[in-house]
Amino acid sequence: MTILKQNAFQKPADNVSETLAIDTLVVGGGQAGIAVSEHLGKLGVPHIVLEKNRIAEAWRTGRWDSLVANGPAWHDRFPGMEFPIDPDAFPHKEMVADYFEAYARQIDAPISTGVEVKRVVRNADRPGFTVETSAGVIEAARVVAATGPFQRPLIPAIALQDAAIQQIHSADYRNPQQLPQGAVLVVGAGSSGVQIADELNRAGRRVYLSVGAHDRPPRSYRGRDFVWWLGVLGLWDMESIQPGKEHVTIAVSGAHGGRTIDFRELAAQGIALVGLTDAFAGGVARFRDDLAENIARGDENYLKLLDAADSYIARNGLDLPEEPQARVFPPLPDCVREPILELDLAAAGVTSIIWATGYALDFSWLQVEAFDVSGKPRHQRGVSSEPGVYFVGLPWLSRRGSTFIWGVWHDAKHVADHIATQRKYAEYRDAAQRAAGVAPQKISLPGVR
Ligand SMILES: Cc1cc2nc3c(=O)[nH]c(=O)nc-3n(C[C@H](O)[C@H](O)[C@H](O)COP(=O)(O)OP(=O)(O)OC[C@H]3O[C@@H](n4cnc5c(N)ncnc54)[C@H](O)[C@@H]3O)c2cc1C
Repeated sequence: MTILKQNAFQKPADNVSETLAIDTLVVGGGQAGIAVSEHLGKLGVPHIVLEKNRIAEAWRTGRWDSLVANGPAWHDRFPGMEFPIDPDAFPHKEMVADYFEAYARQIDAPISTGVEVKRVVRNADRPGFTVETSAGVIEAARVVAATGPFQRPLIPAIALQDAAIQQIHSADYRNPQQLPQGAVLVVGAGSSGVQIADELNRAGRRVYLSVGAHDRPPRSYRGRDFVWWLGVLGLWDMESIQPGKEHVTIAVSGAHGGRTIDFRELAAQGIALVGLTDAFAGGVARFRDDLAENIARGDENYLKLLDAADSYIARNGLDLPEEPQARVFPPLPDCVREPILELDLAAAGVTSIIWATGYALDFSWLQVEAFDVSGKPRHQRGVSSEPGVYFVGLPWLSRRGSTFIWGVWHDAKHVADHIATQRKYAEYRDAAQRAAGVAPQKISLPGVR
C-alpha cells in the first residue's frame, strides 16, 4: 500500500478499539476522488481517499494504447493546473494520468493506493459507517463514492455465443495486434467505437462498424472547438438528458489532431457501416435497417449546433471566420444507400467482435439505503438520500458535464460544501450547553477530530 500522506488516519476512540477512524472517506482515486479531496482539504475536513489500484488507473490501463483525450488540454483540466502541452492539443492518456498524479501531489491529497473498499454499512448502534477494506476496518462519519461513471463494461444480451470468434469490450481493447488476423465487427459508434474502428481500418483490417443513434458535434466550427461552443451555448450545463436521447451516444475524437466524425468519410476510407446490431443466429449477424436514419439524425444534430453557433455569433457581434464548407456533406456511400442487413461472419472473415456498448454502475460494495428499486443512486447533485453518503462523477450527476474532467471538479465542490455545512450543524450547541461550557462536538463520530 502506498501512503502519499500517512497522517490521514486518526487514532480511534476506545469504543472502536483498533479500528481507524476518519471524518470523510472518499472511495476512488480518479479525477472525481482527487477533486473531492481538493475541496475537502480547502475546507479543513479531515479525510482520506482510498484507491484500489493507482491514481487515475482508468486512464493508465482501462483504455486503449493510442487514446488521446476527446477534449483539448485548455478545457479538459482542473482549474488549478495546466497540461504541459499546447493548450489546443489533445493529451495522450498517459499524460492525463500523469496530470492527476501531479495534481494529487500538488494538493497534498491524503490518498492511499492499493486499498480496496470492500463493504460499507451504516452502523446500527452509533453514528457513521463501518468500512471493510483490503487493509482493515475503518470507521467513517461520511462516505463519498467516487468510483467512476464507467465501472462495469456492458455487453448486451444479444452477444454472439461462438467461441471461435474473439469478443471483447472496448474497455479491454488495446491495439490492432491484440486481435486475431481477419475482419472485425465493432458494435457501437460513440467516441470509443468510432476511434477503435478507425484505428483498425488504418491498420489494414476489414472493419464493419455498427452505427446506432448518435450525436456528432463538429470538432470545431468557425475557429472554436465544440467544447467551447457547448460552453458558451450553455449545453454542458443541461441538467438532464432530453427525452428520447437516453440511448444516443456522442461521436467525437481528439485523435490525429482532432477531426469531426463524419461517417461518410469513415466509409470512404473503407469502413463498412451497418445499422444497429439486432441479433446473431447461425453465424449470421443481423442489423436493423436504420443506418440511413441514424446518419440523418446525426447530421441534424450537427447542423443544429452550427445554427446555434451562427446565431450566437450574430447576436454577440463576434468576429469569427465564416465556414460555409462545414455545411457541405459528401454524397452518402453505397453502404448507407444499400445497407447490409445480414452478415455471414465466417464468409466475411470476421474473427473478432468489439463491443463498444458502454458501461454500467456497480455499487455492490456500498450496502446502504441510497439506491432506488432499479439500483440507481438516489441523490440530489451528489448528496444522497442516505445521510452521510455522497456520489461524485456519475453521468448527469448535476449536468451534462458531470463525468468530464472539468465538470466533476464543480460537482465535487458542491459535495464538499455540503459536508462542511453538515459538520457545522453537528458542532452546534444550544444556549444551555454553551452556558454549561459543553465543548463543541466537532462531529458525532467518536474518535474523530
Ligand atoms: C475512452 C474514454 C475517453 C474519455 N475521454 C475523456 C476526455 O477526453 N475528457 C474528459 O473530460 N473525460 C473523458 N472521459 C470521461 C471521464 O473523464 C473518465 O471516464 C474518468 O476516468 C472518470 O473519472 P472518475 O474519477 O469519475 O472515475 P475513474 O477514473 O474510473 O476512477 C474511479 C477510481 O475508483 C477506483 N475504485 C473503484 N472501486 C473501488 C473500491 N471499491 N475501492 C477503492 N477504489 C475503487 C478505481 O480503481 C478508479 O481508479 C473518457 C472516458 C472514456 C471511457
